[in-house]
Amino acid sequence: MADLNTIASLCKRRGIIFLNSEIYGGLGSVWDYGPIGVELKNNVKRLWWKSMVYEREDIEGLDAAILMHPEVWKTSGHVSGFKDLLADCKNCKKRFRHDLLEKNVCPECGGELTEPRPFNLMFKTFVGSVESESSEVFLRPETAQGIFVNFKNVLVSSRKKLPFGIAQIGKAFRNEITTGNFTFRSREFEQMEMEYFTRPEESDKWFEYWIQERFSWYQRFGIKKENIRLRKHEREELAHYAKSCYDIEFLFPMGWSELEGIAHRTDFDLKQHSSVSGKSLSYFDEEKKGEITPHAIEPSGGVDRAVLAFLIDSYKDEKVRGEKRVVLELHKELAPIKVAVLPLLRNRPELVKMAKDIYRDLRGDYKVSYDDTASIGRLYRRQDEIGTLYCVTVDVESLDDKKVTVRDRDTMKQDRISVDMLKKYIEEKPK
Ligand code: ATP
Repeated sequence: MADLNTIASLCKRRGIIFLNSEIYGGLGSVWDYGPIGVELKNNVKRLWWKSMVYEREDIEGLDAAILMHPEVWKTSGHVSGFKDLLADCKNCKKRFRHDLLEKNVCPECGGELTEPRPFNLMFKTFVGSVESESSEVFLRPETAQGIFVNFKNVLVSSRKKLPFGIAQIGKAFRNEITTGNFTFRSREFEQMEMEYFTRPEESDKWFEYWIQERFSWYQRFGIKKENIRLRKHEREELAHYAKSCYDIEFLFPMGWSELEGIAHRTDFDLKQHSSVSGKSLSYFDEEKKGEITPHAIEPSGGVDRAVLAFLIDSYKDEKVRGEKRVVLELHKELAPIKVAVLPLLRNRPELVKMAKDIYRDLRGDYKVSYDDTASIGRLYRRQDEIGTLYCVTVDVESLDDKKVTVRDRDTMKQDRISVDMLKKYIEEKPK
């Protein structure tokens, strides 16, 4: 398995992920997605949305704002409970999460540590022109609360019946202390979250269902069986709102770590928001002829962690005819670029023209790229490194026979295809 440095340097070299504000030395644990990375990230989000919203009749989408009324975070328990215990090193002044320390001394310099103190992970900012406590708001640390406070709005406007879900993808912010490990733990990241509302007595069944559903989703898009597992939370690990929780873990280079959590949040959030806001967040159960508060099952995944896992799992380093070949064997739905069109000789205007015509003809439905800035061997290597599915090469013969060479990323097999048939050929390929 590739280590994180290898992945991070590939990401930088090939425009997948850059350090944020790099020219100023970077902002700790904040990352930017480059031209290739944004495609990969969009593909991850698109596939999640497709399987959550488009392919189902019981889930609706939502896009709530990042800023919310400050009461939301008091009511949800985040103001009092969303804290890590931190200890400072008296010698080098670095801060560490107490629960991650192996010994009670500084892991960097061996210095003495202070007593652990709670530290809230939410970022604060202000609305309006006055910076006072009354204008203080938080950047959301999870997208879920936007779903809970809109429960009634979605219910009434979409006329859904239980069980039903509300899905959302969006940014979340946490002032993480233990950072590092590339994008794994970022201070600004994206979540893909869904709250599935059920009758209380059916909630355990749906909890099991969503654990299995989400576990298989990652495998459907290429995560290898041996690199993914489920782990049940111990009682003392459970978040303040959860009755039970499973993590889907991936074998990252630093060890098994959380990719997604599936939590049984019970009726905690709806009840809390209803009691503090004074607004009913219940559901009229026609069978029982009465109001009930649904339970919520929450699959909560990180977009950035999913991108990282897909990158790590698809990375392959092999020897081909004595030369090193690095290839991202990404699933066809995830590959940032589907086709790259490459003229064999860039100093032959007729070849360049023919290649550009093909490129213009293909682009539209998926991301196609054109490159004539290096020799063909180099161009192939570049495309392999970003997981491009097909390379279409235009050579001197193409001018006469109107055929091009299509090279498959994984088998490296080449087919000679007539230009008229190219679109159809690519569309009909199994991947
Ligand atoms: P961890 O234990 O790793 O800090 P968590 O249990 O706090 O994670 P949740 O609150 O369950 O995480 O968040 C749901 C998902 O959001 C996680 O499974 C992860 O994919 C993603 N996530 C959470 N925090 C971060 C972060 N700092 N950077 C990137 N992704 C994150």
